[in-house]
Amino acid sequence: MNGRTTDIAIAGGGLAGGLIALALRRARPDLRVLVVEGGATLGGNHRWSWFASDLGPEGTQLLDYFRLTRWDGYGVRFPEYERRLATPYRSLSSADFDAGLRRLLPEDAIRCDERVASLDARGIDLAGGERIEARAVMDCRGAEGAPALTGGWQVFMGRRLRTTSPHGVEAPMIMDAAVNQHGAYRFVYVLPLGADELFVEDTYYADSPMLDRSALSTRIDRYCAAHGWEGEPLDHETGVLPVITGGDFAAFQAAHRTPGVVVAGARGGFVHPLTSYTLPFAVATALAIARDADLPGVVLAETMEERARDHWRLTAFYRRLGRMLFGAGNPEERYKVFERFYRLPAPLIERFYAARSTRLDRARVLCGKPPVPVMGAVRALTSPGASLSMRAA
Ligand SMILES: Cc1cc2nc3c(=O)[nH]c(=O)nc-3n(C[C@H](O)[C@H](O)[C@H](O)COP(=O)(O)OP(=O)(O)OC[C@H]3O[C@@H](n4cnc5c(N)ncnc54)[C@H](O)[C@@H]3O)c2cc1C
Repeated sequence: MNGRTTDIAIAGGGLAGGLIALALRRARPDLRVLVVEGGATLGGNHRWSWFASDLGPEGTQLLDYFRLTRWDGYGVRFPEYERRLATPYRSLSSADFDAGLRRLLPEDAIRCDERVASLDARGIDLAGGERIEARAVMDCRGAEGAPALTGGWQVFMGRRLRTTSPHGVEAPMIMDAAVNQHGAYRFVYVLPLGADELFVEDTYYADSPMLDRSALSTRIDRYCAAHGWEGEPLDHETGVLPVITGGDFAAFQAAHRTPGVVVAGARGGFVHPLTSYTLPFAVATALAIARDADLPGVVLAETMEERARDHWRLTAFYRRLGRMLFGAGNPEERYKVFERFYRLPAPLIERFYAARSTRLDRARVLCGKPPVPVMGAVRALTSPGASLSMRAA
């Protein structure tokens, strides 16, 4: 052995890997944990947001260790409907994620700027040749497309800007779909991060993973101008996330499996199929791993695979809705699916985002006149959909 030994080695210090390390630190400070991250910081360049109702008390407590931005409610806007909801909303920047983990984990628990070349049930090999032996190994290196799965894409660009005068926006606007749809389901997402700081994101539920940076940037300019927000851009983020409507989950798992290694985060399939969000599931997985931290790595790996299969089974309803969204009718009318959904009771909407819809919720979402043409919807529900292989964005 030419390297160090640890109890738990985590490959990838993004959302899932970082939360697992934190949950282990809180529950089991006796264990040695090492996070190996290829980037210069933990968490990359992201902003993660979620509804407070996505998390239970333990998950809320875990995220409360970070510096969060909090709001008491949010709004949505569609061409024919507008609503303000009282569900609390939260947001965490990757800079605060990185700062929080560096404060909360021992210094020797984090190694950034180190690429994992390979891993196995007993350790990690770094690109520089060093071997790290571990009792349990976790693969949290994110997902690189999912050719075994089918669906469409959520494509977006977000801009943080400092406004020249107070912008006056009080609550997040989670979906402003009363905008030109440009051949997709398009909406603008706005977070007031401070009196003179805004985050404005232009998002598309599109058939292709193509991200046209210059077009999206121009549309953000126009949206800001239309609302009278002038100011300096501070930074940008972009995303091309799969919206999963079907496929072969066993093949997805096989493509990401290393025998005896725990696979977590997006790579493990812990994703909301329709919103592409992973945060609530990353929190729940981190807490579960911390509870089972004494299990041998190979057993933990099997337990987490089983957990991912359960997640896939329990989220079938959202894939079905996704098939309706992508497969039925004219893309310019996709917004009607959400416009209709947002007229439903707030607790149902909360359970939907947390992927905990009840049988009755599902019936309520699907009952009544479909917002998209009936024949298209029927065709969509039976169509296999396009493969989610990641092409250059
Ligand atoms: C811009 C953006 C915004 C998003 N916003 C939200 C949101 O608001 N709410 C939400 O729930 N979800 C959001 N998502 C979706 C999802 O939650 C995130 O993609 C989330 O970060 C996935 O977590 P993860 O840990 O699986 O992967 P990642 O966070 O991508 O982490 C994987 C990490 O592994 C590292 N890595 C990869 N290969 C190696 C290697 N060989 N060696 C070492 N390190 C390696 C990467 O550098 C990366 O840091 C967003 C995604 C994007 C892209």
